[in-house]
Amino acid sequence: MKKKITIFGSTGSVGNSTLDIYEKHIDKFELIGLTVNTNYELLLEQVKKYKPKVVAIKDEIAYQKFKTENTNLELIILGGDSCLIDILDFKPDFIIASIVGSAGLLPVIKAAELGINIGLANKESLVCSGAILKSIIRTNNVKLLPIDSEHNAIFQVFENSNKDEIEKIILTASGGPFIGLKSHELKFIKPEEAVLHPNWNMGKKISVDSATLMNKGLEFIEAHYLFDMRINQIEVLIHPQSIVHSCVQYSDGSLLAQLGTPDMRTPIAYAMSYPDRISAPIKKLNLAEVENLSFSVPDHDTFPALNLAIHSLKIGKNAPTILNAANEIAVEAFLKKSIPFLSITKIVDLTLNKANICELTTVDEIIVEDMKARKIALDFLSKET
Ligand code: MG
Repeated sequence: MKKKITIFGSTGSVGNSTLDIYEKHIDKFELIGLTVNTNYELLLEQVKKYKPKVVAIKDEIAYQKFKTENTNLELIILGGDSCLIDILDFKPDFIIASIVGSAGLLPVIKAAELGINIGLANKESLVCSGAILKSIIRTNNVKLLPIDSEHNAIFQVFENSNKDEIEKIILTASGGPFIGLKSHELKFIKPEEAVLHPNWNMGKKISVDSATLMNKGLEFIEAHYLFDMRINQIEVLIHPQSIVHSCVQYSDGSLLAQLGTPDMRTPIAYAMSYPDRISAPIKKLNLAEVENLSFSVPDHDTFPALNLAIHSLKIGKNAPTILNAANEIAVEAFLKKSIPFLSITKIVDLTLNKANICELTTVDEIIVEDMKARKIALDFLSKET
């Protein structure tokens, strides 16, 4: 039986890499659906090449254009506000959740409610929903398979049968393009410099998050929820080569790590095929060619975003939701050149301080808190510009 897959956010970096794996294994997978926000031109190329049954286009203008220009396609085309939910009616066994930001939350929640297994690349959805998503997943017996490379690495070496013997997990971070620099050297960083990640080829938002280290902060929160690890059981180390993707330390002194070249197609392939393994068309790691693997502690003074994220996790309740929403607003503003690089973390900090902290018990409450935090962040933004 082929595994039926739907890719949320198919024109992004993870979406494209997923299609690359799918193409090599069409004997194992059936492509049910693709979703995009606005990029209907690339969607059309994907439709012609990979022939899904259904597509969903979130943006109304893009949806209307795609629909009127492609009346000859044998394809169901969904649009409108609920299209990212409606596409789940086509019953995939597995979704790749690779929409960027909290915009990807509702499809993940709905898939979990329907008992559909999830390959999670959209870390923001777990960061902003935390215990609520975990509870839906538990109730519906859903497999939540991490695609984020660090969490996928931990997942590969995390022995559930020895969970009580796990002392800590170690998330590695490349440090981004500005590792080694100090705050005064980051004042005039331009968006085009911030998106140039040294090792990974990724979308703009996550590249900026890597440059501020907020990405590692979001991953810290993600790891806490995915692996039920306490805050003092999670450590972050800077590892500029991005070869050791993360580690698990056991009480007997064993440190189990997953290594590989920095290519998202490895974690994607593992999530798609779990518990089996399938081949991935990537350059394999040759240890003899690796001259140096170095590790160091993060520079929290220069890159305060990581500690800010950990602080939000310590507060708990809606604080990670606020942190994530403010960060999305601030990163978008930085990419539009409305605010300087150092103001990204500052706006997140200010928003976290100003917003009301409250318990979250429902998905609707998450959405309300996300919107409120965005509004506060936008107010601070107007003062920065
Ligand atoms: Mg990652």
